Amino acid sequence: MTQVPEVRLADDVAIPQLGLGVFQVPPAETRRAVSAALDAGYRSIDTAAAYHNEAGVGEAIAASGLPRDVLFVTTKLWNSDQGYDSTLKAFDRSAGELGLDYVDLYLIHWPTPKRDLYVDTWRAMEQLRADGRARAIGVSNFTVSHLSRLLESAALPPAVNQVELHPYLPQTELRTFHAEHGIVTEAWSPLAQGALFTEPSISALASKYGKSPAQIVLRWHLQLGNVVIPKSVTPARIKENIEVFDFELADDDLAVIAEVENGKRIGPDPELFNRA
Ligand code: NAD
Repeated sequence: MTQVPEVRLADDVAIPQLGLGVFQVPPAETRRAVSAALDAGYRSIDTAAAYHNEAGVGEAIAASGLPRDVLFVTTKLWNSDQGYDSTLKAFDRSAGELGLDYVDLYLIHWPTPKRDLYVDTWRAMEQLRADGRARAIGVSNFTVSHLSRLLESAALPPAVNQVELHPYLPQTELRTFHAEHGIVTEAWSPLAQGALFTEPSISALASKYGKSPAQIVLRWHLQLGNVVIPKSVTPARIKENIEVFDFELADDDLAVIAEVENGKRIGPDPELFNRA
C-alpha cells in the first residue's frame, strides 16, 4: 500500500502531503468514499461543517478500525459561526458529528471580510489548540492582506492556509508569503475540478510518463511542496490519485505545466465572499 510522505507544520504536527477531500459529497456516499480511501492507504481526510457530511467521515473512520493516531482529520468553521463563543460551540458540534474528541487541523473556512470577525475567531482557535481539541489550527482562503492582519495579533501563526491552487492559479505571491512565515500551503481544487485534463500539454505529459492527467497534475503540486486534497468518490480514481509517489516530473516538464497559468479562479474571490 502507498505510503504518503508527511509535511511538518510549524507546531510540530505532521500532515500527510496528500489526502481525500469530500466537498459536495452527500453523507452516505461520503462514508463509502472515505472507506475506499482508507483502504487505498489515505490517512488524511478534509471535510467542513458546511459540507454537511462530517458524520459520514466519522462513520467511515469508526468502521475502519484504524488507530486514531494514524489518521489526520481536518474540518472547518463556517462563516456564520465566526466570533469567539460561537467558534467554540461550532467546534463542539463538528467534533460531535465526527464522533471525535479532537481534530488534527481546524480551519477558519473563509475570512469573510464584511463580518470582520476573523481576529476574534482566531483567539477561539488558539483556545481550542491550547485545550487539545485541535492539534493544529489554520485558515482557508486568506489573502496576504488577511494573513498580515491576523499575524499582527496572533499568539500563534496559522499552521496552514488552504486555498484554491492549481496550474491555472498557482498563487505564487501567496506561496512566497507562506514560506516566509512558516505557513504550509494546502491546495483545494488541486485538479481544477478536472478542467486541466484536456489541456494538450498535460495530456502530452500523461502519455510521456505513462500516467493519467490527474496523476501529472498531482505530481506538479507535490514537487512544488503543496499539500493536496483531491476529491473523488470513484474507488478506482481514489486509488489512482494516491499512486503518485513512484515517479518524478523533470524540471522542464514542471515549467511546461506552469505555462497554462491564466490566473482564473473556479471558486469565489475571498475578498468578496461573505455568505452565511
Ligand atoms: P478537485 O480539483 O479535487 O477535482 C475533483 C473532481 O475531479 C472530481 O469531482 C472528479 O470529477 C475529478 N477527478 C478526480 N480525480 C480524478 C481522476 N483520477 N480522473 C478523472 N477525474 C478525476 O476539486 P474539489 O473537489 O473542488 O477540491 C478538492 C477538495 O478541496 C474538496 O473536496 C474540499 O475538501 C476542498 N475544498 C476546499 C475549499 C475551501 O474553501 N477551503 C473549497 C473547495 C474545495
